Order: sequence, then structure tokens, then C-alpha cells
Amino acid sequence: MSAALRSAIRDVVDFPKPGIIFKDITPVLADGKLFHEAISLLCDTTGGVRIDKVVGIDARGFIFAAAVADRLGAGFIPVRKKGKLPWKTHEASYSLEYGENVVELHQDAIRPGETILMVDDLLATGGTAAAAVELLETLGADLVGISVLIELGFLNGREKLARHTVNSIITY
Ligand code: 5GP
Repeated sequence: MSAALRSAIRDVVDFPKPGIIFKDITPVLADGKLFHEAISLLCDTTGGVRIDKVVGIDARGFIFAAAVADRLGAGFIPVRKKGKLPWKTHEASYSLEYGENVVELHQDAIRPGETILMVDDLLATGGTAAAAVELLETLGADLVGISVLIELGFLNGREKLARHTVNSIITY
């Protein structure tokens, strides 16, 4: 991983609320070379396993997952926040500091046994990814790995995903 990739990620203090330091990935997207490098590194996390479909998580995850899918010659499947997918869905909820979030997946998105790589921009507490894993398991997917550009290691998100392979390109 190039130092340039790490240093392009910008810390935004008090976003989206006071006390949070948000990792802003938009400078990576805006730089063609860095974006290409980020997608290459995410593609390398498959360990050579053929991937049928790349699952991306709403919304920044879509940007990375769709590019990875195209590079791997795989399909792209969105996991979306509740109310955004038009057809029949399965849903899973996860708790936030206050309240809960619900994510959805189309019921026909994946056939049993298809090999899946899940991609998101960032792993924090792991709640979002764990809910997405629950949805994939409902459909009998073969989850090869969960790959993120950034992992906030101090939040121990990967503990919630312990049964699965978690790959991160940049860890804080
Ligand atoms: P978790 O459910 O692991 O706590 O949060 C991860 C989800 O929240 C990811 O889908 C990610 O897009 C978003 N997220 C949380 N914090 C940040 C952050 O600092 N930067 C970015 N880019 N995304 C974040």
C-alpha cells in the first residue's frame, strides 16, 4: 500500500456530529491513480478465488464494490438502507448508539453457493457488516471475505465478524 493512499484520507473533526473524527475518502476517489490503486488492493484480497458477485454496502461501499466487481468480471449486488430497494427484500437490523438501522437485500440477489466478496469503504463497530452478513447467510451465499479500504481497529469491529475473513487495506 502506498503512503500516498493513506495520506490522502482526510480526518474531518466533529462530522457528522460532535466528538466524531470522520475518515473522508473523497480525496482518494478524486485522484485517478489512488482510486485505481485502492481498487487493485481490494481485488487482491480474494486470494485468487473466483468471485461470482461483489456485494456493496450503501452508500460509499457502492463506489468501491462496483469498481471491484467490474475489475473481477463479477456481478454487483447492493445492500441498501431500508426503503430503497424496489423489489421483494430480506431485512436485517443492527443497533446504533441511539436506535437502530435496517438494511435490505433483494430476495433473488444471490443463488445458494455463489461466491461473494463483500466490500465497504470502512469498518467501524462492525454492526453494518454483520447485518449484511446475516442477509447473505439467509440466501445461502458462500462469503469468501469482507474487504474494506479502512478499518478502525480500536473499535474491534472484526470481532462481530469472527466467522469470516476480514481484509483491510489501511488500519487505524
Ligand atoms: P459500523 O457499522 O462498522 O460501525 O460503521 C461502518 C459503516 O459506517 C460503513 O458503511 C461506513 O461507510 C460508515 N462509516 C462510519 N464511520 C465512517 C467514517 O469515519 N468514514 C467513512 N468514510 N465511513 C464511515
